[in-house]
Amino acid sequence: MRIAVIGGGPAGAFFACYAFHYARQLGRTISVDIFEPRDFFRAARPGCNMCAGLIPTYVLDEMAEIGISLPSRVIRSRISDYSLHMSAGTLDVAQPDKKAAVVSVFRGNGPLQPPPERPISLDAFLLSEAVSRGVRLRSIAVRAIEVGHEPRLRTMSDEVERYDLVVLAAGVNGPQIHVEGIPYRPPKTQSMAQTEIFMSPDAIQSLEGRVHIFLPSDKNLMFGTLVPKKNYVSISLLGNNLSRDSLSLFLSRPEVVGQLGVQSRAICACRPRIAVSPAKPLYGPGFVAVGDSGVTRLYKNGIGNALRTSRAAAHTAIFYGPSGDAFIRGYEPLCREIIQDNRFGRFLFSFTHVFQHRSALSHPHMMTVKWEQQQPPRRRRLSRLIWGMFTGSDPYRKLFLMSMDIRVQYHLFNCLIADTWYGRDLHSVLVTKGSMEL
Ligand SMILES: Cc1cc2nc3c(=O)[nH]c(=O)nc-3n(C[C@H](O)[C@H](O)[C@H](O)COP(=O)(O)OP(=O)(O)OC[C@H]3O[C@@H](n4cnc5c(N)ncnc54)[C@H](O)[C@@H]3O)c2cc1C
Repeated sequence: MRIAVIGGGPAGAFFACYAFHYARQLGRTISVDIFEPRDFFRAARPGCNMCAGLIPTYVLDEMAEIGISLPSRVIRSRISDYSLHMSAGTLDVAQPDKKAAVVSVFRGNGPLQPPPERPISLDAFLLSEAVSRGVRLRSIAVRAIEVGHEPRLRTMSDEVERYDLVVLAAGVNGPQIHVEGIPYRPPKTQSMAQTEIFMSPDAIQSLEGRVHIFLPSDKNLMFGTLVPKKNYVSISLLGNNLSRDSLSLFLSRPEVVGQLGVQSRAICACRPRIAVSPAKPLYGPGFVAVGDSGVTRLYKNGIGNALRTSRAAAHTAIFYGPSGDAFIRGYEPLCREIIQDNRFGRFLFSFTHVFQHRSALSHPHMMTVKWEQQQPPRRRRLSRLIWGMFTGSDPYRKLFLMSMDIRVQYHLFNCLIADTWYGRDLHSVLVTKGSMEL
């Protein structure tokens, strides 16, 4: 089978690695070409796939199943704590259990000069793993695809090549690829803004191991995050119609200055897009869309999702062939599951948005979580929920059910009533009496 993969980001590299893995299990020979115009060995924007780079460690365990193990130079920080900054105050949430750990990585080869120990980029590392398994890397972009029983693609230099399967893994930040033969519509997207800040070794110490999430009561900004990466911090903003100066406005907020200091120096900045709906259709004869080009998890864990969709698509193609019928049986169930799960995610984020703007609601939540931090891990239900939402460590459906747990609701209701009664002293009352007594 001749396979063309368009895009050498995580989805493209994972697809190729899994395809070789399954082909070896069947004793079959396949050839895989990855078309990728970026050079991930370059520093800053030209070599970067623009992302905050947080990965739950269970995704690293999944990579290990096919022999991919991230070297320590690629892992920039191990995150064990989150701080949530809301109008009602700051909430510190510790990692609820070992399995929920998270690491941070660079998607490019660092924001300045390429470092001497190369590469530190996740994408460069994954792509070199794919090449070591037999991928032929083609450093050129694809202009158009023709889907059908004899799929073809046209490169930017107008070469036409025929394959048995064309895998679209081009994400949502490249130029639009013309798809013929099926009415492919790319996913809808939302705008983000991102920058990297250089920090001195002393300044970074206070940020090490902790992600800061800001939920300001600003109607255009959904959230902003600070992610530590050794001597840098990545800052990402998600919002509706983010203005050109959204990053500088964000960096001047007192609560952000409080974490970064006034001396923060932005090294590079970009305005990528994030996929927020599935593409349609996701497959056809000799064609399948994976990662962000197909369907991704809402706002969190896009890299883990790239692995899951690529694994399912590669399994289907190698074991059952690259036909539309095979993808209906082997690939569609996972896509449906992700689409369904995102509905719960959308609900949870809308709910968070309401809380974000009403300190009368967020204050009791904060107090409950602060109190939970002194309880044994199994009783930290709301903390677990918040951790899962902002790290992507659990499916949204599971988190939704957790939020509906009668004990969480009872707990919150108690705190809401007590908050009205005791006002800002609620935390000390909780610590002395415990929420159940209240
Ligand atoms: C600001 C921001 C922060 C994020 N933070 C996180 C996070 O912390 N954790 C997380 O898991 N996810 C995060 N995501 C989402 C994550 O970046 C994506 O889900 C993930 O990169 C998807 O991988 P992919 O391979 O599908 O697409 P991409 O990573 O976008 O890779 C697509 C590749 O295709 C190539 N390409 C594009 N067009 C063509 C073409 N015509 N021909 C050939 N090649 C082409 C591109 O050069 C690129 O290398 C974030 C996204 C954004 C925008």
